[in-house]
Amino acid sequence: MSQPTKFVYLFGGVRTEGAAAMKNLLGGKGANLAEMCRLGITVPSGFTISTEACTVFTEQGKAAALKLIEAEVLQGVAFVEQQMGKRFGDAADPLLLSVRSGARASMPGMMDTILNLGLNDEAVLGLAAKTGNERFAWDSYRRFVQMYGDVVMGLKPVSKEDHDPFEVIIDMVKAQRGVKLDTELSADDLKELVARFRALIRARIGRDFPTDPWEQLWGAVVAVFESWNNERARVYRELNDIPQGWGTAVNVQAMVFGNLGQSSATGVAFTRDAGTGEDLFNGEFLVNAQGEDVVAGIRTPQQVSLVGSRRWAQLAQVSEEDRLANYPSLEELMPDIYRQLLHAETTLENHFHDMQDLEFTIQEGQLWMLQTRNGKRTGAAMVRIAMEMLQQGLIDEKTALQRVSPDRLNELLHPVFDAQALKDSTAIARGLPASPGAASGQIVFFADEAEDWAKRSLAVILVRQETSPEDLRGMSVANGILTARGGMTSHAAVVARGMGKCCVSGAGAVHVDYKARCFTIGDKTWSEGDWISLDGSTGEVYAGRIATRDAELSGDFGALMALARRYQRLEVRANADTPEEAKIARKFGATGIGLARTEHMFFEGERILAVREMILADDEAGRRKALAKLLPIQRGDFEGLFREMDGLPVTIRLLDPPLHEFVPHDEAGQAAMAREMKVSPGKIRMRVEELHEFNPMLGHRGCRLGITYPEITEMQARAIFEAALNVQARGTVVKAEIMVPLVGTVREFSLQAAVIRGVAAQVFAERGETLDYLLGTMIETPRSALVADSIGRQAQFFSFGTNDLTQMTMGFSRDDAGKFLPDYLKKGIYERDPFRSIDQKGVGLLVEMAVAKGRAVRPGIEVGVCGEHGGDPASVAFFHRAGLDYVSCSPFRVPIARLAAAQAAIDAG
Ligand code: PEP
Ligand code: MG
Repeated sequence: MSQPTKFVYLFGGVRTEGAAAMKNLLGGKGANLAEMCRLGITVPSGFTISTEACTVFTEQGKAAALKLIEAEVLQGVAFVEQQMGKRFGDAADPLLLSVRSGARASMPGMMDTILNLGLNDEAVLGLAAKTGNERFAWDSYRRFVQMYGDVVMGLKPVSKEDHDPFEVIIDMVKAQRGVKLDTELSADDLKELVARFRALIRARIGRDFPTDPWEQLWGAVVAVFESWNNERARVYRELNDIPQGWGTAVNVQAMVFGNLGQSSATGVAFTRDAGTGEDLFNGEFLVNAQGEDVVAGIRTPQQVSLVGSRRWAQLAQVSEEDRLANYPSLEELMPDIYRQLLHAETTLENHFHDMQDLEFTIQEGQLWMLQTRNGKRTGAAMVRIAMEMLQQGLIDEKTALQRVSPDRLNELLHPVFDAQALKDSTAIARGLPASPGAASGQIVFFADEAEDWAKRSLAVILVRQETSPEDLRGMSVANGILTARGGMTSHAAVVARGMGKCCVSGAGAVHVDYKARCFTIGDKTWSEGDWISLDGSTGEVYAGRIATRDAELSGDFGALMALARRYQRLEVRANADTPEEAKIARKFGATGIGLARTEHMFFEGERILAVREMILADDEAGRRKALAKLLPIQRGDFEGLFREMDGLPVTIRLLDPPLHEFVPHDEAGQAAMAREMKVSPGKIRMRVEELHEFNPMLGHRGCRLGITYPEITEMQARAIFEAALNVQARGTVVKAEIMVPLVGTVREFSLQAAVIRGVAAQVFAERGETLDYLLGTMIETPRSALVADSIGRQAQFFSFGTNDLTQMTMGFSRDDAGKFLPDYLKKGIYERDPFRSIDQKGVGLLVEMAVAKGRAVRPGIEVGVCGEHGGDPASVAFFHRAGLDYVSCSPFRVPIARLAAAQAAIDAG
């Protein structure tokens, strides 16, 4: 590819070169800053250095990249100087800059930002004189030294128990002065902070803090490019499927100040509620503060709107007088600015046709917009916003369907606290309902330890003073997150909502002691490992573990699913073995059962004894005796399934797993079995040993059982036909599909089919009634896919068992792949876990080939999938393209598969 020639794009004031459509080049932030300028919204002037420059930086190194962009950056700074009427590096009236990263996809808090760049010992005096506000000037300087020292020069806490070294100094000075808030520090105190910060940098890094503004600027640009490859950014990309090769843009922009006194402020806002989706403009701000103060959760922020403020006060148990005196809304405090903000949010939402997440600053009574982007939201908010925007005419049906990530529906379908159990529990604290859901777990205070605990299958709640991007991995494995500080837009809240994870933030009564690994509320202490529960919808924190129950589904969810039905071509069935599962599947809109695994029925209660008797029998007569006991039980199972699925197809698979799975392997179990069967324990042990296989997955299972013991197939077929006729007689419409597992040759299938048809003839003759049914096979061995044409001449349907098909095609054991697959994914040998998302290029090819071969010999042959892949959105899209008739997945994944199927149909045009 030839080297680009333009790397810098101006925005603001008289000239804007970018636009929203240029996201790949300018990153989301840069593209949207340009778009805001085009919409006439007031944005501080600046320029964006393109993602292509970052790619040059990564591939060719720092020197090459800086040489390429140098002249354009100089021109960019000159442009900003012109627009703002100030000069960069001017000691009397300096232009100060912010330098921020901005990738194509939003990665909140993932990369680095530097504010107030351009200050030094002379400029700070100029700034003080020019603004007539010495305190402000020194506050800006100390923030700059702090951020630059951290981000560019790398001065971080030494160990995880340590606090931020700069914050430690601030706390020390505050203690010396006997003050509590940063805002109570005087200009002289701030001067001292700057001196101490710089001394700390010199002592720890061995270099002086740079005072030349240009040196500062280049250092910051390089730091942003480098931040693309820092650990937390890489983790975020891994978790969110963002390609590592995209690179970040750098936005250099004139500073505006929210910390110039009482008529200045800074805040963030959402055009709709990111937690619930309610169409309510909401947000938080702090008077006399800079942006990071709101997100860092150090001071309690105020609400933008009056409605929001009253709701907040109620939740935080703040009285109306206290609220009005100490936490008034922006609407009350600065009504004019509030109106302008309202105008901007409406303009932006109407323009982008999606919920926007905004950043703004008010400098001495003037509103500046600093950022707009599509806001992260919970699964519930995703559904509600999509459906309400559709009703409001902001988006069309297809867009509404595309707006919801299928996997996020999971959050809506998952349990909430059982009301009774909740009544019996005691709330120990209350924070903000930052991200809905119900979570119980054991307390852990550090993100890396949360990971370790989760690896040991322990349920954890990550408890932090506040979270930071370093905590990401720990947050992603925790059941829930509790923070002592921070508002609805704190890092914890934003990230948790993005992950769809339950979070309670800003529970002020919780005092965290990292060193002692405990927290206290009043005089009570909770230690690492203790159980607590969080209600992310109310902000309530409870002691102990609380039982949960199924979620109730909203009308918006129903409407979304009805819409999906109109667009999906692929049917979605469910894998269900019991009437209860079948009922859930129907409730979620499954149009049949794609797989009933009959062996699951064999394990229940007393019946396992009859199963064992059958397996341990010496001869056919012994087996038939035991099978006779199983017949009525299986018949009852099938009656239940047919009744529940009245009118819809029910695919029943004949016995599949290796027989040794059913027999007792421990001495006590074998002794009990011996008593039951009236034989010696030695005999049982011998039979169990005989059944042992080295490779059970490739052993005596699937139709191989029915080939060696046709009487098992006979019993199951009889149970199916008798059950079907029984319920049919009572008015149920039965659509039975009988499925032979694990065939590799057509002869295996035809031998089993002959047994089944023979039983059908017998049962129909006995009853004087008949039944329409389908007789088909699973395609789950590679050979069956290769010879699908010959099998298709005999079988009336194919159902791809992609679990086994993946296992046998890749040569990976389903049970053992966990040992090496993580390395394979890390090294990029496979892009995704092939047991979760179908390997389209390999296993997928077999599927496509078998479909073509099957249809060639039997046009209209029904083809579906019943492996786990049936519930994976990317796989569903593939199966749509492969022309399958249905996918079948677990009942709780039915809505996910249905939405994915609708999206696949829309994508295909
Ligand atoms: C499969 O192999 O994909 C399948 C559905 O069968 P099982 O998982 O029971 O082997
Ligand atoms: Mg299988």
